[in-house]
Amino acid sequence: MKNPPYIDIAPTPCYVCEEELLEKNLILLDSVQKATGAKILLALKGFAMWSTFDLVGKYLHGTAASGLNEALLGREKMNKEVHTYSPAFKEEEIEEIAKISDHLVFNSTNQFKKFVKKAKNANPKISIGIRVNPEVSSAPTDIYNPCGLYSRLGTIIDEFDESVVENGIDGLHFHALCEQNVDALEAVLKGFEEKFGHLIKKMKWINFGGGHHITRKDYDVNRLIEVINDFRNRHDNIAVYLEPGEAVGWQTGPLVATVLDIVKNKMEIAILDTSAEAHMPDTLAMPYRAMVRNSGLPNEKKYTYRFGGNTCLAGDIIGDYSFDEPLKIGQKIVFEDQIHYTFVKNTTFNGIKLPSLAIYRKNKKLDVVKEFGYEDFKNRLS
Ligand SMILES: *Cc1c(COP(=O)(O)O)cnc(C)c1O
Repeated sequence: MKNPPYIDIAPTPCYVCEEELLEKNLILLDSVQKATGAKILLALKGFAMWSTFDLVGKYLHGTAASGLNEALLGREKMNKEVHTYSPAFKEEEIEEIAKISDHLVFNSTNQFKKFVKKAKNANPKISIGIRVNPEVSSAPTDIYNPCGLYSRLGTIIDEFDESVVENGIDGLHFHALCEQNVDALEAVLKGFEEKFGHLIKKMKWINFGGGHHITRKDYDVNRLIEVINDFRNRHDNIAVYLEPGEAVGWQTGPLVATVLDIVKNKMEIAILDTSAEAHMPDTLAMPYRAMVRNSGLPNEKKYTYRFGGNTCLAGDIIGDYSFDEPLKIGQKIVFEDQIHYTFVKNTTFNGIKLPSLAIYRKNKKLDVVKEFGYEDFKNRLS
């Protein structure tokens, strides 16, 4: 694949979100909204590049936040619906969160009882929900399975104190998927309805959570539309929300890095100005192999290199890649699809530079919207 011209001018390391690709995702998500009446929110956990929120807010209904800071960001930068869920809210934050949220979702009936009065006093219009755990999931990896064994996320039916339903619950929320297609949603929805179906008629809305990989090429969007419409038809046209994060930022741009040095220790090792640990954490946590533009598997092409980060962590290894031509010091390396779950997780570990954030505009101009420096490193420490 030929590099677009911005690759050469991007200050590295740099995440580049391509506006055109982001809008393509938003238009597809909007087509689901239009065909079903469901409302789609951006889950900030996966994608929080707020300089794009004017664009995102043209299509989606708002933001899904996981606590005070994300709720503040959603209110300030998109200012549409703000839905806030947290595994556990804190006494000192609940009023501020309630004031700026449209929906507040508690993780347990315990938390509901503890905070519902305070929340409603702070914001009489707030709509209250409970996150339930349908105990069905086929999420691909344990660390990203919200319904795995002993999960703390959402209340299981055996622990659900149904007396709360009479005390001001408007909705139920489940989140059970991770990077999955609509067949996985259908299985979860079946489990949800078997366990919690008798409560749906008392609700105003159901939130299907995130993990829907709607913008991935092989996602069955038509089937999703059928599933949502069927659910709404069977339940008195109840409001349905979806809150994907990854599907919004999916394949919207790369992380661009530079080869700083090439060393040898029984193989060729390229040291880059980026880091698996600090900038591409899921390559270690999930783990997965990031795609590098114009590369092959080790030994598939003539020249193989191990890509190491510019930190002193021995395990800061991104992976092994092969190329048709030898790499050169100073050459740009393009890691594909690095916009979701990357900069939201970045750390200043080892003092290495946080990657810049840039937007490649539809008019082919590169806007570097944020650069980081020493102050950002220092201000996180004391
Ligand atoms: C992580 C999360 C999401 C978004 O999930 P994606 O996999 O990014 O679509 C939505 N809702 C909740 C409650 C989450 O924890």
